[in-house]
Amino acid sequence: MITELMNWFTLNQRPMPWRTFSSPYWVWISEAMLQQTQVATVIPYFYRFVDQFPDIETLAAADSQAVLKVWEGLGYYSRARNLHRAAALIVTDFGGGIPSDYDTLQQLPGFGPYIAAAVASIAFEVPVPVVDGNVLRVFSRYWGIPDDIRAAKVRNDVFDRLTPLVAMAQPSQFNQAIMELGALVCTPKNPHCTQCPLATDCVALTTHQVSKFPFKSAKPPVPHYTIGVGVIWKDGKILIGRRRDDQMLGGLWEFPGGKQEGDESIQETISREVDEELGIKVAVGDCITVVKHAYTHFKITLHAYTCAWVEGVPVPQSAAELRWVDIDTLSDHPFPKANGRVIEAIKIQAGQLLEKSR
Ligand code: SF4
Repeated sequence: MITELMNWFTLNQRPMPWRTFSSPYWVWISEAMLQQTQVATVIPYFYRFVDQFPDIETLAAADSQAVLKVWEGLGYYSRARNLHRAAALIVTDFGGGIPSDYDTLQQLPGFGPYIAAAVASIAFEVPVPVVDGNVLRVFSRYWGIPDDIRAAKVRNDVFDRLTPLVAMAQPSQFNQAIMELGALVCTPKNPHCTQCPLATDCVALTTHQVSKFPFKSAKPPVPHYTIGVGVIWKDGKILIGRRRDDQMLGGLWEFPGGKQEGDESIQETISREVDEELGIKVAVGDCITVVKHAYTHFKITLHAYTCAWVEGVPVPQSAAELRWVDIDTLSDHPFPKANGRVIEAIKIQAGQLLEKSR
């Protein structure tokens, strides 16, 4: 199986920037970005990131807002915050060199078993298997595993069964080959079994049960929240708040607001949230835009309204910091994706108003 897999990988691997010029730093950054994210999405972010932070020392010394700004739009922002924290620790505790040991790596921020195994094996040829979603899918089919692949027991079993195999191969090539096979051939829907180097011994294929694997139990329904936010204007400036580092989307900026409650209207939601969160009164005006967005565990529909400041001095009761900014400097701050769409709508609206006034 190893020989067939390696031969297939040699012929079919996709060119990726971190494969042509590989360094432990590039492996680490690319693997952190590739978690939950497609290769095609990652490539431009990867180039921007290593262009701005070409080595660990530069990343460690960077301002956290600059790191979040480069990451803006890639999602799962704790990955960016952890990269930054881990870089600082690697500089202070390891003299700037990424450790190669699998267990030592797992002591660093953001290095769970997956990233630690990827860096140890791909950058340093340590024989430890990488078990991500692709790998779990491939081997649940290849070995015909009947249990839920989300279960920790299955992940641990796959890890244990792959450990002697990765030790018999070139670890970096073996791990990348399985992940590539999962991405290109043993795909979630309609796997291309006729092109698969593992087809001869694949339990799912040879027992005609490919569609039954991987087994996943039903997920609970994803909650949906309706959110109202205010684009609050005062003296030509807009009020934004920075989320606390310990919150989801920590360190990113946003427009004040919150979840709709009971049978209140969106305008009432915005008025109440702004009062509760900032201690100010606003007059809620027109709707700017409505944005739908899905996070891992919930979905939102975000309604953004223009608001005029009426009275009070804003106090950051739940935010880390508040700022009045003009429209041209809004984009200097890192925002979550849904808020980014609101900024686009504000700029379009401002451009239209300017056109009308000419
Ligand atoms: S033969 Fe088909 S189901 Fe089995 S590992 Fe290959 S692609 Fe996946």
